Amino acid sequence: MTVRTRFAPSPTGLLHIGSARTALFNYLFARHHGGEFLLRIEDTDRERSTEAATTVILEGLEWLGITPDHPPVFQSTRMARHAEVARQMLERGCAYRCYCTPEELRQMREQALAEGRSPRYDGRWRDRDPAEAPPGVPPAIRLKAPREGDTVVEDLVQGTVRVANAELDDMIILRSDGTPTYNHSVVVDDHDMEISHVIRGDDHLTNTFRQVQIYQAMGWDLPRFAHIPLIHGADGAKLSKRHGAVSALEFREQGYLPEALCNYLLRLGWGHGDAEVIDRAEAIRLFDLDGVGRAPSRMDYAKLTNLNGIYIRHADDERLTRKVLQRLAHRTDLALGSQAAGRIRALMPPLKQRAKTLVELADAAAFLAKPLPLPMEPKAASLLTPEARLMLRDVATAIAATDFTPSSIDAALRAFADASGRKLGQVAQPLRAALTGSTASPGIDATLAALGREEALARLAAVT
Ligand code: GLU
Repeated sequence: MTVRTRFAPSPTGLLHIGSARTALFNYLFARHHGGEFLLRIEDTDRERSTEAATTVILEGLEWLGITPDHPPVFQSTRMARHAEVARQMLERGCAYRCYCTPEELRQMREQALAEGRSPRYDGRWRDRDPAEAPPGVPPAIRLKAPREGDTVVEDLVQGTVRVANAELDDMIILRSDGTPTYNHSVVVDDHDMEISHVIRGDDHLTNTFRQVQIYQAMGWDLPRFAHIPLIHGADGAKLSKRHGAVSALEFREQGYLPEALCNYLLRLGWGHGDAEVIDRAEAIRLFDLDGVGRAPSRMDYAKLTNLNGIYIRHADDERLTRKVLQRLAHRTDLALGSQAAGRIRALMPPLKQRAKTLVELADAAAFLAKPLPLPMEPKAASLLTPEARLMLRDVATAIAATDFTPSSIDAALRAFADASGRKLGQVAQPLRAALTGSTASPGIDATLAALGREEALARLAAVT
């Protein structure tokens, strides 16, 4: 069987990371099995769907590298086909026209509730002669759902799940205004797109029973279903804004690398031994649905941040430099020319060792682009005593005599400390304050070398 999966978001808001994880699982499953991954934008609800939301979804998927193999299918363009299938169901005798007015349906609901029954459609037009149709009432088309037995789903994650058919009423597949209902559109599209595996959140399980009945009515092969548990917050409630960031692009904003977020989302709900760091190629090699757990997973922001730190440490220096420059571009207190870019690039190897997000990385790199006079943090200012400033004059002379490589700078600083009876730290700390305006930076020799002779000496001259 050719594996074809799809991600089918409704463009009504942001790209929630729960949805991003669903997309990722579909993508990895298709790749693992040498199949195809498709994207369908479920925009039939014209009131709730927006173009902006579609853009956000496409942008989020692209950022995460979860790209479909074909251009997206827009469900709204397929409404004629949905209606066509509804008519075929009428012809097959597995659907019927229902002429109930909204008022009748309301009464039916109220009466059921009053009698303590669940408000289901009572099937009053199921076997009635359409000749009895009241004039001027446009009919809805309803599925003639089985009344006996169970509808069973052999779910690849949840196992066998079933519902008694007596619990499900004859749902509308085509409304009286000719528009298809959600479950009907999904089935027609999944069938036409030849989807082999429907992998989605387990909040859709109740829809699945309805959808299975439509497949069966049409005599279509069922896809395999896999309903994955939702993501919860630390308190066990469904993940929402009050827990923290939930939209994929918000994580981008907060300085997460897409591969780190994907790795984290993969590990959230899917396990492969103790392995935590799993890159895309490895994920494709390993991913299968039998590793997906049945319990809801809990979002752990601290764990994601740690993982992001690992990915930053291993990321390419040029790429990180570009990202840092983009992040700093709006800052009016910086002079971001090619020189500053060169310094940031030069110091990237040690800078990236300590940052857990790109926000931290950019903050830590910003001093390299600050024009003189350098603003001083209070702690740094307090290190620059008159005595320290005098010392820095001599330090400047000592390092000016080197070829300004980290190793020659390091040797010169050690020699200076020895000769003046100071510990290296007593030299390095005021030096760092003068060069960076703060008390934290990568090694002083690397920092000096990254600034370069001219800039480093200018920064020292400014405080001596
Ligand atoms: N459009 C649905 C949603 O965004 C998903 C439907 C499906 O995967 O079948 O929740």
